[in-house]
Amino acid sequence: MADIAKLIRTIPHYPKEGIMFRDITTLLKDPQGFKETIDLLIAKYKDSRFDYIAGIEARGFILGSALAYALGKGFIPVRKKGKLPGKTVTQSYNLEYGSDTIEIHDDAIEAGSRVLLIDDLIATGGTAIGAITLIEKVGGVIFETAFVVDLPELGGAKKIQDLGHKVFALCEFSGH
Ligand code: AMP
Repeated sequence: MADIAKLIRTIPHYPKEGIMFRDITTLLKDPQGFKETIDLLIAKYKDSRFDYIAGIEARGFILGSALAYALGKGFIPVRKKGKLPGKTVTQSYNLEYGSDTIEIHDDAIEAGSRVLLIDDLIATGGTAIGAITLIEKVGGVIFETAFVVDLPELGGAKKIQDLGHKVFALCEFSGH
């Protein structure tokens, strides 16, 4: 079995001084590592009742689309501002090392559809909570949120749990 945490490379001081960047490109390029990552998510969600997987640009697309394909679900992109061609709703948020704006098509989700939200990593939770807000604004119901990496000391997973949502992560790193 591949050790997912060991396959994730840490790049200190990227993109800013003091940030330990947990780089999943080394996990994705490892055939066993990538397979194991998706297989663990398949095992976790194969018997769950939900309608869509929403992935956050860009690393959430890689994980979310592989999982959506494997589970026979539709995939919904949550994109950076200005990329989606249709009518969108928009949310700005702060993340561990800055701020950003994300969007979703306003007709992406039928009212009441259950959505699994996926991204590579949760730090302060700003990005994921922004995406949750968007999904709920367009009528979706958050079924659960899933990440490869949790940085528990930054408190994002707890914030999402405090909002009443479930959080699943394949591994944790201490510190920032
Ligand atoms: P946050 O909004 O603070 O939870 O940050 C999560 C988002 O920013 C995810 O989309 C991550 O890809 C990225 N991110 C934040 N901190 C890190 C980190 N230390 N290493 C890698 N990616 C990070």
